[in-house]
Amino acid sequence: MNNSDLMDKIVALCKRRGFIFQSSEIYGGLNGAWDYGPLGAELKRNVKTAWWQAVVHFHDDVVGLDASILMHPTTWKASGHTDNFTDVLVDCKKCKRRFRQDHLKGKCPDCGSTEFTEPRAFNLMLKTNVGAMEDSSSVVYLRPETAQGIFVNFANVEDATHRKLPFGIAQIGKSFRNEITPGNFTFRTREFEQMEIEYFCRPSEAPDKYKEWIQARFNWYIDLGMRKENLQLREHGKEELAHYAAGCTDVEYKFPFGWSELEGIANRTDYDLRQHSQFSGKDLQYQDPVTNEKFYPYVIEPSGGCDRATLAFLVDAYHEEQVNDQTRVVMKFHHKLAPIKVAVLPLLKKNEGIVALAKKIKGDLQKDIVCVYDDTAAIGKLYRRQDEVGTFFCVTVDVQSLEDQQVTVRHRDTMKQDRVSLDGLKQYLQDNFS
Ligand SMILES: [Zn+2]
Repeated sequence: MNNSDLMDKIVALCKRRGFIFQSSEIYGGLNGAWDYGPLGAELKRNVKTAWWQAVVHFHDDVVGLDASILMHPTTWKASGHTDNFTDVLVDCKKCKRRFRQDHLKGKCPDCGSTEFTEPRAFNLMLKTNVGAMEDSSSVVYLRPETAQGIFVNFANVEDATHRKLPFGIAQIGKSFRNEITPGNFTFRTREFEQMEIEYFCRPSEAPDKYKEWIQARFNWYIDLGMRKENLQLREHGKEELAHYAAGCTDVEYKFPFGWSELEGIANRTDYDLRQHSQFSGKDLQYQDPVTNEKFYPYVIEPSGGCDRATLAFLVDAYHEEQVNDQTRVVMKFHHKLAPIKVAVLPLLKKNEGIVALAKKIKGDLQKDIVCVYDDTAAIGKLYRRQDEVGTFFCVTVDVQSLEDQQVTVRHRDTMKQDRVSLDGLKQYLQDNFS
């Protein structure tokens, strides 16, 4: 299977099984925007929960935040986005198409012309107005990154939680960028969700904390079942770094369209807190409780894309296997990410006893395990459908179950089947999630 076939298959599966739909598709769609369907919503939520658990709940030194998308416009002056968050664009003079200058190789890719307009800067922030007046005083931006919501709350969080350095603030939320060329399915979109941590530390600690976070973030993907050979770290060269950054390393995934960034871990030095101090007039320095020394903390920023991670987990989970001369498509999601953990299936949907028992089992399990009841096809077809969405176990109720109170548990990856007694079923399932 070549790479473009693989990507086509994944996009088709996402639509067919309700993971991802094109936004406003009945109107012809909106370029660069996507909707998560019933299973996609579960999958993405599981990705976010796994991230939050790993970086907030399992870290005594990290707390969470949920800042608003709309912020005071001076935020973006201070961060540099108003002046510098731009792409350089040119127009083809012949066919009038618009291109990013850095994507052009001398000739217009559409008509071949070599005549272009003067390059000009195009700001990528999406603008809107708040309140009833639509003039320059009411302009605000949809945030282009969640990070600034954290920086402007640094002092609030420090005061409210009595934190001492080093400590981090983590946030998941939507961001918006007016990308000129969105593409590669949900990889580059104009509306997207970020998972960001700003980890504040002493300048002298920053190099070590930077290394620790790179390793921790790389391991997070591995711990959730991503294949190691599809992941790599790429350190940015000096010419790629923002002027204030002391280092940046990307976690990259081998997508069918090539190695691409999932997440960047940057040492942002003390740039952000200094800038916000200067623009707000508020002193955002940290005062050491022992020495009383005042200084601006350094910041290590692991910044991941939730949609990108979700897409990478989808790609990595996709498997085709030959079983009895038929192709079995199976999504081998880690159990923490699988949208459905258990499907309870009646072998005979016209047998009232079997149906009643299957529904009772589903009702008992769902208090602790995400599960579904399905009787919309014959058992072989139901197994294939559950494989295709990555359901970890199928529990089948048959005539025998009514007599011996046992059911058949089928394992997704091995297709191994075990006969399990009902009173030990929940424990059996929980013991075998791995
Ligand atoms: Zn042209």
